[in-house]
Amino acid sequence: MNFQSLKTMIDNLVQTYACPSCTSKIDDTNVEIVWTAGSNINVEVACPQCEKHSIIRAQVIPLDLPSLNISKEQIEWIKWQLWITETKNEDRIKDSQIVDLNRAIKKNNCSIEELFNDNQK
Ligand SMILES: [Zn+2]
Repeated sequence: MNFQSLKTMIDNLVQTYACPSCTSKIDDTNVEIVWTAGSNINVEVACPQCEKHSIIRAQVIPLDLPSLNISKEQIEWIKWQLWITETKNEDRIKDSQIVDLNRAIKKNNCSIEELFNDNQK
C-alpha cells in the first residue's frame, strides 16, 4: 500500500469515526498504525475522551470502479463496509466478514445492485 492511499484512509477514518463507547470524535493523533501487510492494514484508535481502544482492520480491494458505472455513494458504501467494525462486543472485525464481502464482489454473476441488496438486509 502506498503512502497516499494510507493517508487517505486515515483521513477518512478520522472524519467518520465515532467512539463506540462515548461517540467522541478523534483526530489523527489518536490513530496508530499497528501493522500493514500488502493491502491489509490494522489501526488502533484510542478515544481521547474515554480512552477506549479499538482495533480497526481494513483492506484495500483492487476494484476497477470506473468501469462498473456505479454511483459515488455506492463507492463510499463499499469503502466503509470494509472500514467500519463494531467494537462494542469485540475488538476486531471478523475475518469472515472481509472474506464474505470479497466473495460477494468477486462472484461473477453478482451485479453491483445485488451486492448492495444482499448486504443491506
Ligand atoms: Zn470514547
